[in-house]
Amino acid sequence: MAIGKIRVIVIGAGAAGILCAKELSEKGFSVTVLEAKDSLGGRTHTIQPEGFSYPIETGAEFIHGDLPITKGLVEEAGLSLIKVEGQSWHRHNGQLSTSQYFIEEWDLLMEKLQALDHDISIGEFLEKEFSDSRFNALRRSVIAFVEGYDAASVSRASTFALREEWLNEDFDAQYRIKGGYSKLMNYLKMECDKNGVRFSFSEEVKEIQWDVNQVLVKTNSGKVYESEKVIITIPIGVLQAEDTIVFKPEIKDRFDAIQKLGYGSVVKFLIEFKDKFWETIDPFNDGVGLKKLGFFFSDASIPTWWTQHPMDSALFTGWLAGPRAEEYKFKSQEEGLAEAVKALAYIFGYTEDEIRNKIKAWRIINWTEDAYSKGAYTYATVEAPQARKQLINPIENIIYFAGEGLYEGPEAGTVEAAFASGLKVANEF
Ligand SMILES: Cc1cc2nc3c(=O)[nH]c(=O)nc-3n(C[C@H](O)[C@H](O)[C@H](O)COP(=O)(O)OP(=O)(O)OC[C@H]3O[C@@H](n4cnc5c(N)ncnc54)[C@H](O)[C@@H]3O)c2cc1C
Repeated sequence: MAIGKIRVIVIGAGAAGILCAKELSEKGFSVTVLEAKDSLGGRTHTIQPEGFSYPIETGAEFIHGDLPITKGLVEEAGLSLIKVEGQSWHRHNGQLSTSQYFIEEWDLLMEKLQALDHDISIGEFLEKEFSDSRFNALRRSVIAFVEGYDAASVSRASTFALREEWLNEDFDAQYRIKGGYSKLMNYLKMECDKNGVRFSFSEEVKEIQWDVNQVLVKTNSGKVYESEKVIITIPIGVLQAEDTIVFKPEIKDRFDAIQKLGYGSVVKFLIEFKDKFWETIDPFNDGVGLKKLGFFFSDASIPTWWTQHPMDSALFTGWLAGPRAEEYKFKSQEEGLAEAVKALAYIFGYTEDEIRNKIKAWRIINWTEDAYSKGAYTYATVEAPQARKQLINPIENIIYFAGEGLYEGPEAGTVEAAFASGLKVANEF
């Protein structure tokens, strides 16, 4: 069969799906993308709701390092990057301090991590190496980091995977895309459009019937799409839920493998203030104070916050991740705002009323409630490497899985991971 006649259905128009569609269409395949939402980009989604002065990132916001695929595509799209700058501040037990370190006793931790010869969960590792009470601060900061940054459960997260991530991540090279990630997704879609890729939005895939001759993909609208091959880029959290997509015949071993991956929750609190009031706070009377505030780490109920420094924006973003974000699932928007106001009053040393009066616009995005994400991103469990090996192996060269959750490497849980996975599958064709 001539390449131009081979039809491929890509399920999901997130980073993995769009880049995969772009690559396959450039190679001459006939590509259809089916997307459940009415929008592009999946977990990258830039919006500007009423009241906000600038677009806000509801999902992915940073490029975590000098990541070749993402930075390459940003350049290709003619977009610009803004380097993340600013000072980190902390408030623990009521005390304000400033320090660039996320984790206490980093060097000692690295030494013990390097010596580990078989993988265990990070919870077990801390118990084994750092159970003494003199390591309380180290344990607390590792747990806060694993839950807060990787959105992971300490009892399941793989120590080997965290070691790889921590050794490779360049925390000094973090960027944002000017105008937001959606600009990049729009560029990729434009390229797909040029190559004749067909996009169908608001089409939730419900069933995949397949054999060596054809694939029939059925959606909630009752439509049936036909192809020779299908690439599934649906988030792992969605695939972990029961009966998301019915496969005929079943692919039980793949679904067993999917359950072995970790998938975390995140709630993002986007609060724009009337002005950057924190710039007037100068706790140590050094004339600088919080003027260059970047990240704020704390023991508040919503522990992590950040500004848009060096951009001139009064947006302050809160981040609740991991098991605590999962517990948050059933809270209303108003309850969420009350929690955020309480946390900010503690962090800045203001009253709750003072904080409320300074707010211009706010939005709380709970990704676990999003039916087509059911959480934020994957993390590696001890069982993950084997499970992933099974998942990236295509079934009869007909059914392929891609997406951030299928990525094998140090950039786990990122847009780069999704791009890399989408490209990898496209290169297998
Ligand atoms: C709050 C948050 C913050 C993040 N921050 C960062 C960050 O700063 N930097 C970073 O690099 N990464 C970040 N990430 C992770 C990053 O967003 C993801 O790793 C990446 O976007 C995943 O891309 P993907 O294509 O694998 O999946 P997705 O983007 O989720 O795409 C999958 C698509 O499948 C669709 N879909 C689901 N079910 C169906 C169905 N049944 N039928 C059809 N379509 C379906 C979904 O609607 C979605 O559009 C963040 C994620 C979240 C949630």
